[in-house]
Parts: sequence; structure tokens; C-alpha cells
Amino acid sequence: SPIIEIKNLTKTYKNGVEFNALDSVNLNIERGEFIAIVGPSGSGKSTLMHLIGLLDTPSSGTLLIDRNDVTKMSDKELSEIRNRTLGFVFQYHHLLPDFTALENVMMPLLISGKKKKGAREIAEKLLKEVGLEEKMDHRPNELSGGQNQRVAIARALSCSPSIVLGDEPTGNLDTKTGGMIYELLRQLNREYNQTFIVVTHSESLASKADKIIRLVDGKITVQ
Ligand code: ADP
Ligand code: ADP
Repeated sequence: SPIIEIKNLTKTYKNGVEFNALDSVNLNIERGEFIAIVGPSGSGKSTLMHLIGLLDTPSSGTLLIDRNDVTKMSDKELSEIRNRTLGFVFQYHHLLPDFTALENVMMPLLISGKKKKGAREIAEKLLKEVGLEEKMDHRPNELSGGQNQRVAIARALSCSPSIVLGDEPTGNLDTKTGGMIYELLRQLNREYNQTFIVVTHSESLASKADKIIRLVDGKITVQ
């Protein structure tokens, strides 16, 4: 069965007038798929990512992650699923400035209860994987934008999430660097068979995905 099943998912905001930022979206995502989400600014991309990421709750509809109906869960259960199942990469890397690349990647592992030695081994392996073997002891201000985004990707993968969510992970990078970061995500997706859902403004990057989801005015347009 699909790892993510979305039925009639709607998110309504009330700013004086009521409107649907997401309007009755139906979508199934299979395990291991690499999905690109595209659409104009304001079309609901971030809203959809926030709902799938359990950072926000829908107004109506159902969202199943790994067959669990997350719309029926308590905050505690949601944060457990978030920590166990989901990894996040955002437009800005949000690394902790006073910590090295290695420490930033170790952090979620330590928080989840891993011992220091085991956390270090996993973080080192991931930083090698993203091409930062030589930079593990550098802090964010000693690294380039692309390198920091690589650290953020390693951090997102640290707790072996089955779903990785990228909300414009290449949006703050020049075209060439963004292309390389996107290629890295694609390569990690193939290697680990994790499900990737990535928002991008670039049609050429989106075309490398297994499937493109197009949003317009909170609705998925026919593919
Ligand atoms: P996108 O990511 O495609 O640019 P968003 O999901 O951020 O689109 O936003 C979809 C629509 O919902 C936009 O019109 C946006 O202004 C509105 N919106 C998003 N978040 C909120 C919020 N917290 N409160 C009110 N309106 C919101
Ligand atoms: P993105 O660049 O990823 O589309 P946005 O700049 O649209 O993100 O939104 C950034 C944050 O602000 C999100 O958490 C979104 O929910 C919130 N937001 C967006 N539009 C509005 C709005 N009109 N009112 C309140 N919050 C909003």
C-alpha cells in the first residue's frame, strides 16, 4: 500500500474571508518514490508540505502515513511519528551556528537517545555520503551555501526517516549548486529507497523526479 494516502485534504484559512489554501487534494505516494511538487507562488505547496510533515493540521479530509490516520492522533503520537518517520530539509539550512557540521548531524540522534559513539559513526558516514568528509569539524559560517545544505541533508537523514520532505531545498542556491544538491537528493533516494517529496520552482529539476505534482489555487491539476 502507498506510504502516503491523501483523501479530500483541505486546509482553510480565515483572514476575514475564508479560503482554501488546499482544496480537496487526493494523492497517493508509493514507497521509494521521488516526487516533485511544483506550482506558482501561493498555490499551496508549503501548506501541503506542512500537512504531510505533521507541522500543521488539516481542516478536513484524511492523511494516512504508513497506514496510520494522522488526523486522529494526539500531539504526542504526532511528534513520535514526526521524529521516527520524517526528515526535513528547508530552503534555509537552519543549522546551529555554534556547532560543527558533525555536531549538527549528531544532534537529532543524541536527542532520540542514541549514545555518543553510535551517533558519531552515523553522522560521519552521512557526511561522507554528502561529500563533506573533509569539512566535518567546520562550523556553518566556514562553509558555503551548498555545503551547509549538504550538512542539512545529512542531518535530515540521520534518524533514517522513511519520508524526506524538502521545501524548496535548492531555492536559496545558484542554479549550478542547486542542480548538484537536487542530484544528491535523487542519488540518496535511489540508494536508500526512502520516499522523497521535494518542492521546486525549477521545471528542469522537477523533470528528474519519478512524478510531478502540479498545484494551482490549492488543487492538483491533471497530470
Ligand atoms: P506556496 O508554498 O505554493 O507559495 P502556501 O502553501 O505558502 O503556497 O500558501 C497558499 C496560500 O495560503 C497563500 O495564499 C498563502 O498566503 C496562504 N497561507 C499560507 N499560510 C497561511 C497562514 N498561516 N494563514 C493564512 N494564510 C496562509
Ligand atoms: P514559501 O516561500 O515556502 O512558499 P511562504 O513565504 O509562503 O513560504 O510562507 C512562509 C510561512 O509563512 C509559512 O509557514 C506559511 O504558512 C506562512 N504564511 C504564508 N502566507 C501567510 C499568510 N498570508 N498569513 C499568515 N501566514 C502565512
